Amino acid sequence: FSRLRDRLHKTREQFINRMDRLVLGRKKIDMDLLDELEEVLITSDLGVRTTQLLLEKVADKIKRQELKDPQKLRDQLREEITRILSVESSAWDPRSARPFVIMIIGVNGVGKTTTIGKLAHQFKSEGLKVMLVAADTFRAAAVEQLSLWGERVNVPVVKQKSGSDPSAVAFDAMDAAVSRGMDIVLLDTAGRMHTKVNLMEELKKVQRVVNRKDPSAPHEILLVLDASTGQNALSQARLFKEEIGVTGLILTKLDGTAKGGIIVAISDELQLPVRYIGIGESLDDLRPFDPEEFTRALF
Ligand code: GDP
Repeated sequence: FSRLRDRLHKTREQFINRMDRLVLGRKKIDMDLLDELEEVLITSDLGVRTTQLLLEKVADKIKRQELKDPQKLRDQLREEITRILSVESSAWDPRSARPFVIMIIGVNGVGKTTTIGKLAHQFKSEGLKVMLVAADTFRAAAVEQLSLWGERVNVPVVKQKSGSDPSAVAFDAMDAAVSRGMDIVLLDTAGRMHTKVNLMEELKKVQRVVNRKDPSAPHEILLVLDASTGQNALSQARLFKEEIGVTGLILTKLDGTAKGGIIVAISDELQLPVRYIGIGESLDDLRPFDPEEFTRALF
């Protein structure tokens, strides 16, 4: 917990500390204060929509005389934000199928490969047999990088030479996973945004092939987003949700950014559960997301 708290310090400085300074010495909540609060929320990347929602809740409490003291604003916001982050979703249970197939999607550079390495490490330490699949065949470096993670974490990697058909790699991998008794299959996919249409078609094809092998798979389609890109992360989430269908999110690089508020905006608008957050570059820097714990660390 203290590590999480420590890693969120940039977002806290931008958001919470500014909010605290705002209410310092104030005796009542007036329009002036609310305007300044709006500014803090928007510049912390909570987005216009989520900011309005939070301000409406606050205004409502004030109207009903349940909120008067500016010093209580912080608790009020923390409560609301925790509620927004607690998106309803099916339980996360990688032991519910064997193999449990997780397709990892997202734009290049967001931390997809690193996240797959961290996930593999985590599942492995829980005693699960993990296989990585290099279905980003577009970039030779991607296959290479995934192989390195496989070595580092000591799990097998299914790959073919670069340029081969990603869905063919996924097809073979599904067979290999069954015959080798794997518990978890982590599918790395391409993320080149300059050919958006082709990319979406490619991802859908991988999804179809996996589904043909096992009608319940992929069991999860996790979208990786770089929190430090703020509103860009939100538009990527919109796009992938609409095109591919996403079951959950992983927000990376929450450590290096003052734009952590984007996690609230995305949860609010897209109603997708955040499954994990990345808070650093080392293997242990991926945490299962717990809204309560997150806001406790942030506030
Ligand atoms: P990909 O192109 O999406 O596969 O991205 P990579 O996995 O290669 O990651 C891009 C860069 O982001 C690398 O330098 C990673 O070490 C870094 N990275 C990934 N996740 C995190 C994170 O949670 N925090 C920080 N600070 N860096 C991260």
